[in-house]
Amino acid sequence: MSAAEGGDLDVIVIGAGIAGLCAAGELVRAGRRVLMLEKSRGIGGRMATRRLGDAVCDHGAQFFTVRGRAFGAIVTAANDDAAVQTWCHGFARDGSLGSDVAVGDGHARWRGTRGMTDLPKWLVNELMSSDLAGRCDIRTGGQVTAVAVDGSRVRVSLNTSDGRAESLTAAAAVITAPVPQALDLMQAGGMCRGASDVVPAETLRQLEAVAYDPCFALMLVLDRPSLVPEPGGMHFAVEGGGPIAWLADNQRKGISPVPALTAHATGTFSREHFDMPPDAVMELLLDAVRPWIDGDPETAVVERSLHRWKFALPTTVLPEPVVAVSQSPPIACCGDAFAGPRVEGAASSGLAAGRWLNRVLDDRAETP
Ligand SMILES: Cc1cc2nc3c(=O)[nH]c(=O)nc-3n(C[C@H](O)[C@H](O)[C@H](O)COP(=O)(O)OP(=O)(O)OC[C@H]3O[C@@H](n4cnc5c(N)ncnc54)[C@H](O)[C@@H]3O)c2cc1C
Repeated sequence: MSAAEGGDLDVIVIGAGIAGLCAAGELVRAGRRVLMLEKSRGIGGRMATRRLGDAVCDHGAQFFTVRGRAFGAIVTAANDDAAVQTWCHGFARDGSLGSDVAVGDGHARWRGTRGMTDLPKWLVNELMSSDLAGRCDIRTGGQVTAVAVDGSRVRVSLNTSDGRAESLTAAAAVITAPVPQALDLMQAGGMCRGASDVVPAETLRQLEAVAYDPCFALMLVLDRPSLVPEPGGMHFAVEGGGPIAWLADNQRKGISPVPALTAHATGTFSREHFDMPPDAVMELLLDAVRPWIDGDPETAVVERSLHRWKFALPTTVLPEPVVAVSQSPPIACCGDAFAGPRVEGAASSGLAAGRWLNRVLDDRAETP
């Protein structure tokens, strides 16, 4: 058992996506002992990269932008270590054949060097670096089932990766799961929607207003180069009414050794077909992608896979970067539904949550 897991745990961070990792970084650098709990086997959340045969596909976030100073400093350091790099400065924008001129708006679109999980992986390496060593642990493959207030501590229940039920306490917690899932965890712990609620009614109302679009991600490995124009990614006009919102060629992007496409369906299509059998969804999306496949898909597509993101992109974003669902013990909700969506918004929200908890925990330590 490491220092972070033994005895007096300061903060439990639920979720090891970009928001959780940024929050943990702020906390650990301030000397806190942090335990991160992630239900998936890997880290990164929606910054996700998958191997499919010889191909490498980003199937969640495709790129990120950098506008703020704090996230900019992280990206600069990751860039110095060759974990991230600029992909391009814009994409083709109407999805019709021949619209192969990348929009150069001067704004850099960044990507992980070998895939989008490279930035989360780099953040984990930073957390585990020698000068911070022992203050942070990350447990993957175990799902948190409830978050509760237990006197002056937070109690977190989980099902561990080997199927055991476990309960941990800490002085504070950060919840980075998509908001509807965060609310389920708090409800299971008796923090809201019950008799003696901890979460103030107005805060609960705000959180309950947050909604997300789902998204299907279709991955196709090809036996020949695709017809997706440089720089290897294209947005589709949503007004066009087609099922596809985005199409990328992971080889042209620079992360896959072989041609491989990632197509994202629109929110509308994904919602309307969410419960349809995957094979039927794949057929519909493959049909829409056909113009960017050179030749007959029957022979050109050598492998295919469909991923279904239930909470892909928030359609409502709350104005605050972090929402305190409890002051004592301090519990913060953060992620891409707070103050700014997307990768950068989630990172900024995680940083804000870490800073807020550091302030509250410092104040507590000073209060006699
Ligand atoms: C298809 C798609 C395309 C996108 N494209 C872009 C793009 O091009 N550019 C861009 O900037 N953004 C894009 N995004 C959005 C971007 O990926 C997210 O905004 C960002 O990654 C969110 O980070 P987060 O840390 O807030 O949440 P997440 O990455 O979702 O992290 C939350 C983590 O919590 C874990 N978790 C949840 N519940 C529990 C539990 N009970 N117990 C333990 N762990 C739990 C999850 O497994 C997850 O790892 C895209 C997203 C999707 C899905």
